[in-house]
Amino acid sequence: MTKVVKFGGSSLASAEQFKKAGDIIRADKDRRYVVPSAPGKRNSRDTKVTDMLYNLHSAVSDERTFASVLKDLRARYDEIIKGLSLDLDLSKEFDTIVKNLKSGADSDYAASRGEYLNGRIMACYLGYEFIDPATCIVFDRKTENYDAEKTYKNLAKKLAKIERAVIPGFYGAYSDGTIKTFSRGGSDITGSIVARSIHADVYENWTDVSGFMIADPRIIKNPAKIETITYRELRELAYMGAGVLHEDSIFPVRQEGIPINIKNTNDPKDDGTWIVGTTSKKSKYVITGIAGKKGFCAVNVDKDMMNSEIGFGRRVLQAFEENDISFEHLPSGIDTMTVFVHQDEFRDKEQSVVSAIRKLTNPDTIDIESDLALIAVVGRGMKSTRGTAGRIFSALAHAHVNVKMIDQGSSEINIIIGVAGADFETAIRAIYDIFVETKM
Ligand code: ASP
Repeated sequence: MTKVVKFGGSSLASAEQFKKAGDIIRADKDRRYVVPSAPGKRNSRDTKVTDMLYNLHSAVSDERTFASVLKDLRARYDEIIKGLSLDLDLSKEFDTIVKNLKSGADSDYAASRGEYLNGRIMACYLGYEFIDPATCIVFDRKTENYDAEKTYKNLAKKLAKIERAVIPGFYGAYSDGTIKTFSRGGSDITGSIVARSIHADVYENWTDVSGFMIADPRIIKNPAKIETITYRELRELAYMGAGVLHEDSIFPVRQEGIPINIKNTNDPKDDGTWIVGTTSKKSKYVITGIAGKKGFCAVNVDKDMMNSEIGFGRRVLQAFEENDISFEHLPSGIDTMTVFVHQDEFRDKEQSVVSAIRKLTNPDTIDIESDLALIAVVGRGMKSTRGTAGRIFSALAHAHVNVKMIDQGSSEINIIIGVAGADFETAIRAIYDIFVETKM
């Protein structure tokens, strides 16, 4: 059995955290490939090493700030090296970084050094081989994304000969060697790519929480944990994953059906959350999770006989496309079509979208409603349970929440509800209570 284990920044923020990670890795001989992030925050007032590196890059022509950020950065790594009593000197590495930055290396290069240096420490600490992802994770200039086929091939070839290795997260390189990072939080993607390349049995993602909660703990006090969730359910709960797992890290492992296990470095005995392709395990409740987001606008377009006008929907959407705006949901009625968009993307372009809709579709009316929230209620158990939607709506009615929009996907594993932004928290509490607190 082979496990790929990724440790997030908070799991490697100090020597003490490194020791916990080391104990976890050594406790299971299947944990052969380790993907570290850069050191994260040690407390809420601390700065992540990645942010320090972006600052270092911005300060390249300001001698004093540069020297001071550099000093703080070195101190972060020295503290870890010393705390682990390692015989490792990163001076040469720092000299190279300074030299490269002074001769114009970009911010991707700067940021990637957080993972690079932490990987060097981790490899030394574990006695594992160090693999620089710049030599195997290949980025494509056109798409600015990694080239999946080349990358999987390179990694598979390299790791076939290496029993145990550390592969830093977050970056790779274009074919000319120029470093390129993923978006923030991208070490999750590296872990997934490594797991996919070697057909790992499990991708363990170690972080500072014990997995996904059924609802946001800022809204529900001590919410129940999700034990098992399918990739598909997680995708439907896209608003929820944020902060725990990078959205793009699902794709590589999903293709191969490799499960992801979210685990807590500070509580390794907890089973965490399993993200799987398919499962016979019923979730404990009818719903698997509830997630939502505020800040949506609904653009309502009405036109008599819209249902028989060919191309009407396409033309409405064209108005959004021309203004470079994506839509989130698209409920429609016989003579009306509503487009839900992110308020912050829409605000400045509002009038230009409205006039494009007018020109393109000649509607009877267009109204815009703002400050709305969308809530996704998701569960594979919903398919086989009658009355789920009914229960949601009666709970909302009891809580005096007005439902503005309902959209049930044809997969029957999700129901999307639109409510006023001011009702967002009340609505989530009402739905949580009816399914989880009353254990139905
Ligand atoms: N260190 C990077 C960041 O802070 C990547 C990661 O931690 O996954 O975004």
